[in-house]
Amino acid sequence: MSHRLVVVGAGYAGLLAAKRLARRLHRNDVTVTLVNASDRFVERVRLHQLAAGQRLTEVPLRQQLSGTPVQLVVGHVTAIDATARTVCLGDEPRTIDYDTLVYAVGSQARLDDVPGAAEHAYAVACPEQATRLRHRVAEIASGGTVAVVGGGLTGLETASELAESHPGLRVRLFTSADDVGSGLAPRGRAHLLRALDRLGVSIHPETVVTAVREDGLGTRDGRSFTADAVVWTTGFRAPDLARAAGFATDDSGRMLIDATLRSVSHPEVYAVGDAAAGVSVSGAPSRMSCQAALPMGRGVADVVAARLSGREPGPVRIGYVFTNISLGRRDGVVQFTHADDRPRRFVLTGRVAAVFKEAVVRSTVRARRRGEPGSDASDS
Ligand SMILES: Cc1cc2nc3c(=O)[nH]c(=O)nc-3n(C[C@H](O)[C@H](O)[C@H](O)COP(=O)(O)OP(=O)(O)OC[C@H]3O[C@@H](n4cnc5c(N)ncnc54)[C@H](O)[C@@H]3O)c2cc1C
Repeated sequence: MSHRLVVVGAGYAGLLAAKRLARRLHRNDVTVTLVNASDRFVERVRLHQLAAGQRLTEVPLRQQLSGTPVQLVVGHVTAIDATARTVCLGDEPRTIDYDTLVYAVGSQARLDDVPGAAEHAYAVACPEQATRLRHRVAEIASGGTVAVVGGGLTGLETASELAESHPGLRVRLFTSADDVGSGLAPRGRAHLLRALDRLGVSIHPETVVTAVREDGLGTRDGRSFTADAVVWTTGFRAPDLARAAGFATDDSGRMLIDATLRSVSHPEVYAVGDAAAGVSVSGAPSRMSCQAALPMGRGVADVVAARLSGREPGPVRIGYVFTNISLGRRDGVVQFTHADDRPRRFVLTGRVAAVFKEAVVRSTVRARRRGEPGSDASDS
């Protein structure tokens, strides 16, 4: 019987892994099944654009997989039985057996961080949440306020995009840090602050949001801010599937893996992308980003192919090239970095940065079609 390889999650990491596995292995020896909750590839890096009212191009998975032997199963995996080695699809119900599992389910908004966020906050972590925010923003009258909580890359991009697309709205950005853009070189940071100012985004540093209400938010120092919508972008965490299945995970639900992306508790299981606690070249945990997801997707295919051919693979290298921040459609900051994510002096700003980022994001989809991430420069 052929070896059953199952990849759960067709995002940046999982789709690349499935296509590369199918290319590297002989189809008589191995079947590759890709299970994904929807029949579309979701360009998550554009979801703030969707929330701001822009139209995104549909990327059907079947089109991405045409000409490959990868079998696509559209369904939501509700459980993994690590003993029986099956993944369970809830809505059918149906199970799929695996000999090797690649876990690539991405991440979710941390809406359980503070009281009220799950009920009242909006998010941009998945298309459904971004669409809900889009509808809400369209309802808010000119002069209304949107509060974005979280000063990381997703918060900065979301606040900028909303401010540019809806100039009548007041956009406020709340961050617990004492500043935004602290990981950028001075020129990039100065540009970021100028751009936020130009777009009318007001920054509330050192402000810890402790509650979300229907009409706004409350902070740890007892202040209250009204808002027509609160957008929660305080970071991501992995779905609970791996922990519930008994795989070793970290506090964020990410699967603990070794340098070959293999589960430390279950050797027939691998994890990639946001759902994996990888180790980058600096020794630090991998950052939830396409820059980590793409080499992991490529790497896991090489590692699994090597082991199935009786060879012992080397470690997968997770390094960084740049941090790419869009500030609306016409502005941005591209901070080039060392492989360990420390900023270099070289920075692109303004329209050239926006064009650069757009080219990178487009090349990422084109690369998925070919089953290759291209060079590291194609990672966003
Ligand atoms: C608004 C926004 C902007 C971003 N901008 C950038 C950026 O500029 N640069 C950058 O590097 N990163 C950016 N990111 C982060 C980046 O999108 C993620 O790091 C990346 O998507 C991770 O890839 P992945 O393959 O691990 O997971 P994903 O791309 O999230 O894919 C996971 C897939 O698994 C599927 N899935 C999940 N659970 C199940 C289940 N139970 N059953 C079946 N299928 C399931 C999902 O439907 C999805 O298709 C951004 C994220 C957001 C939200």
